[in-house]
Amino acid sequence: MLAEQMIHVNKLNKYFGDLHVLRDIDFHVEESEVVVLIGASGSGKSTMLRCLNFLEMKNSGDLFIKGKEVDPKKDNLNEVRQQIGMVFQHFNLFPHKTVLGNVIEAPMQVKRIPKAQARKEGKELLEKVGLAEKADDYPSRLSGGQKQRVAIARALAMKPEIMLFDEPTSALDPELVGEVLQTMKDLAQEGMTMVVVTHEMGFAREVADRVVYMHDGKIVETGAPKDIFENPQEERTQAFLGSIL
Ligand code: ADP
Ligand code: MG
Repeated sequence: MLAEQMIHVNKLNKYFGDLHVLRDIDFHVEESEVVVLIGASGSGKSTMLRCLNFLEMKNSGDLFIKGKEVDPKKDNLNEVRQQIGMVFQHFNLFPHKTVLGNVIEAPMQVKRIPKAQARKEGKELLEKVGLAEKADDYPSRLSGGQKQRVAIARALAMKPEIMLFDEPTSALDPELVGEVLQTMKDLAQEGMTMVVVTHEMGFAREVADRVVYMHDGKIVETGAPKDIFENPQEERTQAFLGSIL
């Protein structure tokens, strides 16, 4: 291990009833690394992210966060989850709260941060995602891309050390995709550790340190973007990339 490993997974298995969705997954993410997860619909990408964040419980295997094994039976999962921010395809902002209200809700409720401090930090985060001037607007006034940037600021407000993104731009009109990807790119450049499920291969090429290709609940191939895209070793990877590129 060179840098500190932020995520380490050994032989992770996950079933939904009889359906074996994750099969002996070995996976790791180093500090400040950006890993892009690709694969066909139904290959297990979302389940994988949800297991990393304990929104789903693995059936077997070992899961280490920052070098420490997490045991859902013993450990406080809310504390673990606070270290791991997540952004979904659908932003689910609170419609009755302002943009800033959305960002400061969790720090105030979960971390008991005083309101003045939460507002100050929240405004800094809105500045960072380019939405300082929208702080007092309601989400209904925002475009999809702006909403997703608020969702990113909201996740960052908990000061996570790892960010998981599950197809954050898939629900957006094409002209709004770029601003969200740019926000994610900025975050990567600041050294955030990130796992990103996306079909945006341009983003993967430009920003990912490593690309992981999943098929049918297994990791089929992993490598630098250049190697995966230009010289995939596995037939399945070639077929998948052929179908989308
Ligand atoms: P991806 O994100 O790559 O499209 P998912 O992780 O969402 O794949 O799904 C992997 C498989 O698990 C699919 O066959 C899907 O139908 C199934 N699945 C996902 N979530 C559930 C669930 N809550 N209950 C039952 N089956 C599920
Ligand atoms: Mg998915």
